[in-house]
Amino acid sequence: MKKHILEKQLLNQPKEIKFCKKCVMSNQRPRIIFDLDGVCGGCRNSQSYKEKINWIKREEELSKLLDQYRRDDDSWDVIVPSSGGKDSAFVAHQLKYKYGMNPLTVTWAPLLYTDIGWKNFQGLRDAGFSNILASPNGQLHRQLSRLSFEEFGDAFHVFVLGQVSYPFHIAIKFNIPLVMFGENGEAEYAGDPNVIDKPFIPSEEFQRLYFKGTSLDELVNFGIEKKEYFNKNFNSSDLNFYRPPSINDLIKSKIKGKYFFGYFKKWIPQENFFYAAENTNFKPNPERTEGTYSKYASIDDKLDGIHYYMKYIKFGFGRATDDASHEVRDGHISRDEAISLVKRYDGEFPEKYFQDFLNYLDISQSYFWEVVDSWRSPHIWEKKGNKWKLKKTVY
Ligand SMILES: [Zn+2]
Repeated sequence: MKKHILEKQLLNQPKEIKFCKKCVMSNQRPRIIFDLDGVCGGCRNSQSYKEKINWIKREEELSKLLDQYRRDDDSWDVIVPSSGGKDSAFVAHQLKYKYGMNPLTVTWAPLLYTDIGWKNFQGLRDAGFSNILASPNGQLHRQLSRLSFEEFGDAFHVFVLGQVSYPFHIAIKFNIPLVMFGENGEAEYAGDPNVIDKPFIPSEEFQRLYFKGTSLDELVNFGIEKKEYFNKNFNSSDLNFYRPPSINDLIKSKIKGKYFFGYFKKWIPQENFFYAAENTNFKPNPERTEGTYSKYASIDDKLDGIHYYMKYIKFGFGRATDDASHEVRDGHISRDEAISLVKRYDGEFPEKYFQDFLNYLDISQSYFWEVVDSWRSPHIWEKKGNKWKLKKTVY
């Protein structure tokens, strides 16, 4: 494995691979914790946390919170970051029609919308929501994607930066201090125990979790210094939406942090899907999503298949592991069923938009595989003949 200077997350990967005894999650997942019985934080959270939660009380907490922010002058009073996917559709629709708020939905555009993603995005708007759609500087975005692919093993990183940061710029601009995201990924997918059972992540903290240990400025400077393809055909304003606003600006605007609807309401992806299908014109993928078995999870972006594939390369588990683990915890499938789903779908290569990915990054197929192989850790992969094999799997 080649040394990647900017990526700091992989340094903490445990060298001995283990899988959760209850679901199928791997201990290679960043920030995950396994207890002495070999059970992952995600399962522990769903048992000790979700099942004991008094959801009626939580809903009262939500009502109280919303009362603090609700406006009586008919203006927008909550921001819902939204791609048009089922989860944000559920949040926006509930806030508006069940809790009488006036949400403004805010979208950081996918790298390349899929047809179904674009339709679902419009469907949510047509269910009665105003939306602001941000499209970053296209040249800059492609350069940053390629740089992130090479240096973080994840072209999608640039999308995540804007997805987290951009809504807060709009919150300041329109003086809307409440920003309501959907799920708390740390709670749902077994991450940092310090932020699991909280309604929000404070503004000071939310940068730390998502940025792979490197700031945007470090990344950009690295590109300018080391990469011949990286031109400076952009100005500093073009970079603004990739960064969160300053802490001072957030405090001045009374923005406490990043709120999660999933803290207040039980978060069940499958039910969000049914809800969105019924209320916001949400349509699932006509085909199964490559790399997993579901038809409704993150289907907006043509390029996110490679994101999940790279996760499989870097951590040895893919999208089917995430989906199946979640379903085991929700009681929808057994662990054995989860194992066979993982065996069948995890690591399936996302063929469908592969050429779009290469075009978007302006790279060749052979260079793509060179970068992919530079991310294979020796404790996860071994080469047998010409073929790469996972050293250890859950099946
Ligand atoms: Zn587990």
